[in-house]
Parts: sequence; structure tokens; C-alpha cells
Amino acid sequence: MARTGRRHVAGPSDGGVVPPEPSTVDLHAHTTRSDGVLEPATLLHAAHAAGVRTFALTDHDTLAGYRDVTTSGAVPAGLTLVPGIEINALVTRDLGLWEGELHILGFGMHPDDDAFEAALIQQRDERRVRFARTVERLREIGLPIDAQVAELEPSDDDALGRPTIARALMAAGHAASVEDAFTRLIGHGGPGYVRRGGLGPEDAIAAIIAAGGIPVLAHFREAPERIELLRELQEAGLAGLEVYYRAFDAATTAELEVVARTLGLIATGGTDYHGDLGPYAASHAQSWVPPEVGTRLLARLECR
Ligand SMILES: [Zn+2]
Ligand SMILES: [Zn+2]
Repeated sequence: MARTGRRHVAGPSDGGVVPPEPSTVDLHAHTTRSDGVLEPATLLHAAHAAGVRTFALTDHDTLAGYRDVTTSGAVPAGLTLVPGIEINALVTRDLGLWEGELHILGFGMHPDDDAFEAALIQQRDERRVRFARTVERLREIGLPIDAQVAELEPSDDDALGRPTIARALMAAGHAASVEDAFTRLIGHGGPGYVRRGGLGPEDAIAAIIAAGGIPVLAHFREAPERIELLRELQEAGLAGLEVYYRAFDAATTAELEVVARTLGLIATGGTDYHGDLGPYAASHAQSWVPPEVGTRLLARLECR
């Protein structure tokens, strides 16, 4: 989940990206198995119907959605599904980062890699601790969501997060929207904010690589001003940068294209669809990911 995705949806009137044609690639999306609102199979069909042919489910800390659709035969014919993940990594050094986090996407991990699954289990445990503490804190400040949360019943493979909390706050009448919940209550510095635990960025990168995946830095708008940090992450194995992102305007995208080219990072892109801003087709229509982004990633995964 990106701050940019919450607070601002770029459109043509404010320098937003105008897709020259419907994107055939989306390498960033979330389902009910983490903090999205659509079931994995439903999201896949919505993406396919919108014209997407190379797709990645990048649920936080779980490959459960990928396993759901591949084992049940729910991947539409003609759609290439890449195993994906997003790990929200905690940065312990004070680098002035938003929420003190860097979000690391991974593509092409072996879905049956035991060490990777063990790392994800630990991440999900950290999420459950943070989730419970947040519910507790909200109760303490007079904004209980216990009844709403009791209805969720997540499995061990699921990785619920703050958007889930935000929707519970809406259902309980404590917030007007997910954005409102983040801005006033559960975002960094808010009265209901609880710091996350878990992997740091270097560890997340290492875990993705060890499982055969390609690690990519997600929605990092500040990239042009943080070249040194990017080089450090590259030293640790970072291989890509999310250049095409629904909430980036055209100028930001152009700058990130240059950064990726200069540093030799593979460019990726996607909608970061969660479901709070409307149907998938609407997010897709506001996004542009060039088709060669899909072909290059698939080629890179082929020649591992
Ligand atoms: Zn994110
Ligand atoms: Zn995301």
C-alpha cells in the first residue's frame, strides 16, 4: 500500500499518464489473501477482461492467492501469471522514508520454496501481532472495531493489513473512507498507528533471490533524489524499480525511467489495485504499463 495510491489518483487533468492503449501488463495487485477486496480468481478474470495478458498477484507476505488460482485451474487461457509478492520492509535507520518503510516486490519465486515460505510465515506472524495491537489501541481510544474484525476469520496463509483495519473502521462508522482512516487514525503518527515488525529491505531482497525471484523496489517516487540508497540496495541484490505506477504522474514516470536505465534496473509497473477506489477496470484505465515491461520480465525469468 502506497501513500501515493491513497492520497492522489493522477488523471489527465493534472499531469497524469494517459494510456495510449489499454495496458496488457499489470505486475502489482492485491487480493483478499492480504489486504485487497477481491478474491484471487475474481481479480484474475477482471484483469483478463480489461485486456491484461501478463499479470502478477503481489499480495503482502503470502503466495496463497497464486496457489489458489493455479491449483484450481482459475487462470484464464491466454493470461500469463507470474508468482509475485510484496514485502513491506522496515528500515531501522532513520532515512526520512515514508513510514520508515521500503516496499519490496518479488517476481518469479519458486512457489514451493520451503525457506521462502518460512520467512513469509514469520512475516505473517508479525502482521498478526501488529493487527491485534492496532485493534487494541483503537479500542483504548474509543474507536472499537472488535465486532467488525471478529467477522474476518482469516486463515494462517492470509496476511491482513491496515487497509483491512481501515475498512473495519468504516463499517463501524469511525471513518468515512480508507483514506480518511489512514490520514486521521492509523497512518504514521496517527493515534491508532502501531509500528510494524519483520524483515528489513536487505533481508527481504535476499529471501526473494534465494527463492529464485527478482527483487524490485515498489512505488518509490523519491528515487531520483535517493540514488545512493538505490545503489546500496543494488549492492544487496535489488534488480528492478517500479517505474510505471497508477498514482505516478507523467513527469515522475519519465524521471523514474531515467533512473532505472541509468542504474541498470529492470522496469516494472502496475495498478497496486486493492479495491477501495472502485472496480479493477477503473484502476486499469488510469494505468499505463508498456507491453515490453512484461516481455522483458518474462525473458529475465526464463534465463535464470
Ligand atoms: Zn506498497
Ligand atoms: Zn502494493
